[in-house]
Amino acid sequence: MVNANYEYTQHLMGTTVSLMLLEPNETAVQSVFETIKILEYKLTVNRPLSEVMSINLAAGQHPVTVSRPVFSLIEQAQKVSLHFNSCFNLAIGPLVKLWKIGFQGDQVPSVKLIKQQLLLTDPKNIELDANKHTVFLKKTGMEIDLGAIAKGYIADVIKSILLQYQVYKGIINLGGNVFALGSSLTDDNGYWHIGLRKPFSTDDKLSGVIKVINKSVVTSGIYERFFIQNGHLYHHIFDPQTGYPLDNELESVTVISDSSLEGDIYSTVFYGWGLDKSREYLQKHPNLSAIFLLKNKTIALVNPNNFIFQKSDKQYTIKLN
Ligand code: AMP
Ligand code: MG
Repeated sequence: MVNANYEYTQHLMGTTVSLMLLEPNETAVQSVFETIKILEYKLTVNRPLSEVMSINLAAGQHPVTVSRPVFSLIEQAQKVSLHFNSCFNLAIGPLVKLWKIGFQGDQVPSVKLIKQQLLLTDPKNIELDANKHTVFLKKTGMEIDLGAIAKGYIADVIKSILLQYQVYKGIINLGGNVFALGSSLTDDNGYWHIGLRKPFSTDDKLSGVIKVINKSVVTSGIYERFFIQNGHLYHHIFDPQTGYPLDNELESVTVISDSSLEGDIYSTVFYGWGLDKSREYLQKHPNLSAIFLLKNKTIALVNPNNFIFQKSDKQYTIKLN
């Protein structure tokens, strides 16, 4: 990863958050880290208390009033879930909690339990009141999980804070969700160089470098959180129809976009769709680009007008479009 002179890091949201700036700016950095903490406390489901947890704890009982950003994010996530219902679902919480992937006690649950939890994941059973800013989960046991989009949303907020402080260039890295702000001074053409992790590499090897100017770069990969049982790999992105981890030809999807929230939504959606359906969609949406790493060790670059990819691993072969 590259190449700005001043790096600030903190452990937040279960990952290392880092800001890389060209000049020191303690005030901007402090405001960014404070805001991340505030948003994390609103959005997380990995702590006993948060706004989203208060909605989940009141499931089947009563609506809960939430703050404007939380309401707006849930509203958007519900729309996306209803639109892309085959692979994206903000009501996936009961399955995430059942499988515990990436947390202590992860194991393949019984078919009966998976079926039971699936009944609690219908996004239509989330009732929103835009006037009162309330969210009501109609069935007891329902749980909202914003894990697929929270970092993207937060990256966009951080970007706007930096701009308010007149910081126009730098790298925001939320543990793999990257925003490359403005242009770089170290590359002759102004590109920031963002490393793309080699899937399952234990020593932080890269499969290549993504070069962008003023873009969000978000990756969803099955190597981020997984466990292996009886030789089968179970990872953290679920098929909302079956309740099992999605099973397809992909190791990871990286989306390059202007908005990081959009990138985070599509990285999860494209992972679920697989390469062919995603490519069809991308061909109609030239403002979005994507890099697909396949299990057969090919790399597919779709809409490569918005970035440059430089492969650095011999195992992989590049396929254009
Ligand atoms: P990402 O790494 O952005 O693809 O997000 C993965 C996270 O989103 C998981 O750790 C879960 O918290 C949540 N999640 C898993 N499967 C889905 C899904 N099908 N739709 C929405 N969120 C999901
Ligand atoms: Mg995502």
